[in-house]
Amino acid sequence: MQRYFVKRHQQNIIFEQDDIFHITKVMRVKKGDAFEVVDQQQALFLVETVSLSPFEVKIVEQRAVATELTTKLTLYYVMAKGDKTDFVIQKATELGVNKIVLLQSSRSVIKIDDGKSENKLARFQKIAKEASEQSKRLIIPTIEINADFKSIGKDQSTLKMIADEEVAGLTKNLYSLLDAITTNQSIALLVGPEGGFSRQEVEYVKINQFIPISLGKRILRSETAAIHFVGVVASYLERQ
Ligand code: SAM
Repeated sequence: MQRYFVKRHQQNIIFEQDDIFHITKVMRVKKGDAFEVVDQQQALFLVETVSLSPFEVKIVEQRAVATELTTKLTLYYVMAKGDKTDFVIQKATELGVNKIVLLQSSRSVIKIDDGKSENKLARFQKIAKEASEQSKRLIIPTIEINADFKSIGKDQSTLKMIADEEVAGLTKNLYSLLDAITTNQSIALLVGPEGGFSRQEVEYVKINQFIPISLGKRILRSETAAIHFVGVVASYLERQ
């Protein structure tokens, strides 16, 4: 069943224009058809279409479903070229991140151009919204673009880890760190660009409590590392 993110004020449900187009022209919903909406408080409702023009629905019932991770996950990803970043945003959203911060580092292939960031951000947020709808999430991850690598020093997560290719090998350290995490804490994950991290960058984040971890014995592409890292952490957090 299709799901849309809406604004709700009591019984009044407000859709974005793009969503009304998708509902009426793509999904060809008819009067009486039902689908799900998630409001700004992450509450899920089954609604029924009462009018197509103007587009109106009525709430049928509220539904209780818990699809979000109980630990807040932030992915810091040094932006990759082409559609790799789009792919990482889509997959990390499906896997349950709460926030994605796109960074630039000394070996970035992509230089963040503040003049173009606004358009890029709007596109990234659309990707995250569609991936949240498809994966039945109750939130849309926040997407940020930050050219200042050192801004990561402000992260306040309980557990902060940097995927460091220089420590590629066994992964037991990652699991022992995750084992210590309890519900309602927070985790930050940092993944580097195709060219990897400079040692200065690794030293900087270590001073800011990021722990270097291995994602295994092989050297993964930047986008593979990001998706794998989020996937392993999300799966571990939902192991019971
Ligand atoms: N230039 C580096 C080299 O050739 O050794 C490779 C960088 S890798 C393509 C891109 C990023 O993926 C790295 O900065 C790191 O964050 C992550 N990564 C890839 N493989 C990893 C591994 N086995 N363990 C930890 N991190 C890894």
